[in-house]
Parts: sequence; C-alpha cells; structure tokens
Amino acid sequence: MAYNSLEEILEVCRESQIPFWETILQDDMNERKVTKEESFEKMMGMWRAMLSSSEAYDEKLISNSGLVGGSGGIMEQYIQKETPLCGAFMGQVIAAALQMGESNACMKRIVAAPTAGACGVLPAVLVPFYKNEQTEDARIGEALYVAAGIGQVIAVRAYIAGASGGCQAEIGSASAMAAGAMVHLRGGNAGQIAHAAAMSIKNLLGLVCDPVAGLVEVPCVKRNVIGAVNALACADMALAGIESRIPPDQVIDAMKEVGDLMNVSLRETGEGGLAATAFGREVSLKQGQEKFR
Ligand code: SF4
Repeated sequence: MAYNSLEEILEVCRESQIPFWETILQDDMNERKVTKEESFEKMMGMWRAMLSSSEAYDEKLISNSGLVGGSGGIMEQYIQKETPLCGAFMGQVIAAALQMGESNACMKRIVAAPTAGACGVLPAVLVPFYKNEQTEDARIGEALYVAAGIGQVIAVRAYIAGASGGCQAEIGSASAMAAGAMVHLRGGNAGQIAHAAAMSIKNLLGLVCDPVAGLVEVPCVKRNVIGAVNALACADMALAGIESRIPPDQVIDAMKEVGDLMNVSLRETGEGGLAATAFGREVSLKQGQEKFR
C-alpha cells in the first residue's frame, strides 16, 4: 500500500508513535513481503552504490558531446584553496552535486534517485554529511527511507520526471527528498520533514525542463547543485521551526498543476528555454549531423 499523501504518513507516525522513516520501512516490508532486515539491506545496498559512485568520480572524463565534465574537479580545487562564499560544507555539497551529475552525463554508474537527471542531489547532501559527521551507516539508511517516502508521495500525486512535469518535478522532487533526509539526520520530527520537502518544492516551482540537444547535461548538471543547496536551506528552515504556509500535500498538487500547464516545449523535448538559445540550437544541429554521419 503506497501512501497517497504526506499527511497519511504523518498520521501513521502520530498514531503508531514511530518516526517517518519507519512508516516507509514498514510499508516496504508489507508491499514486498520482506523482513525488516531484508528491506534495510536493500536500502543499504543503494547507499553503498551511491557512495562508491561518488568516490569513483573521474575529473578527466568529458561527455560524448563535449558539453560537460571536469567541473567537479575544478570545484574541488577551489574549495581546497579558498573559503567558498557559501562555507566549507556547502562547497563540498556543490562539488559532490557537480561530480555525480557529470558522472551520469559520462555514462558512469549512478543511483537514479529519483531519476538519472537528478541523481546528484541526494548524494550531494548525504555523502559530505556522512564523511564530515562520521554518521553511522544505519542513520543514512533511515534518511534514505525518508527520501523514498517523500519521492513516492510526489510520484503518486504529481510527477518525478522532467518529461511529465518539467524540471520542478525532477530536481524539485530530488530536492524535497534530500531536504527531508537531512531533517531526519539532524533529529527533526515528521512534521518538519514534510515542511522541509514542501518548501523545497515551492522554491523550485515552475522550473522548466530544457536540456540542450535533449542531452541530460546542460543545464542538468548544475541544476543538481541548486537542488542540493535548496534542500539544505529548507532543511535548516524546517529545523529552525519555520513551516510552509501552504500545506505540504497542496504544494505537491500545485506542482502537478503547474506541470500540466507547462508547454510541451519545456518538458524535456529540447525545444524551449535554454535548448532554444542560439548556442543550444547550434549544439543540437551538430549532434544531429553527427548522428547521421
Ligand atoms: S532539465 Fe530536464 S533533463 Fe535536465 S535535470 Fe532538469 S528535468 Fe532532468
């Protein structure tokens, strides 16, 4: 039984006096008929894959189109030499998001959570936090259940794919999932998790999907950065006690409505927005010529 709303999850948390992550774990156990250990081991497998993908980043790799690659290494060098304006931790988060986005564009192994295009957001917040705070692996597993629960509700009520609802659905959903995960890691409660997710989506509402030449490279790699940075800002707001004025489930519904209203040229067709700039069209033409060569 998948949850249809964040409110349903919060209700189970209240009634059963269990944390957000455990409601999702129990749901997985019921749905897949697995034990707690089996469910947790699967989630930990996901985490290990995320961690090893992050560690396998190669700054020398460039995508086939030549559009992306190396930025993760440049950012890494910058944070070693300078104090980033956003602070040392945020610098690491930016580097991690770029690296995973570039690894995806270079066809390396990634964890598509929730999608390949937005694969950099969750690891960008989790991996630096895990390494800096020496967090127990099991705590990261719990955070991933939180992320999974948020993603599942968004998928049921709205979309998680750019082709369906624009980049708000892809990077926005990933950002909401990451925000909820971070609230959990910092000891926040279920209500704070829901509000962090809602604020993340609100901040990215209306974001169009406009990949140059239809490739998940430009602007996708750098949008993973904004998804991660936004997630941390929203997690901090929620942990401070700030709430989304619009109830969380209504925010998700608004995202669905905005996605439905979005012109098809702005939903991963590579025809509008940045893809339609002179540069974007030039790349698209070149890609087309190479395809038929
Ligand atoms: S622009 Fe489109 S393809 Fe790129 S990350 Fe956003 S939703 Fe995904």
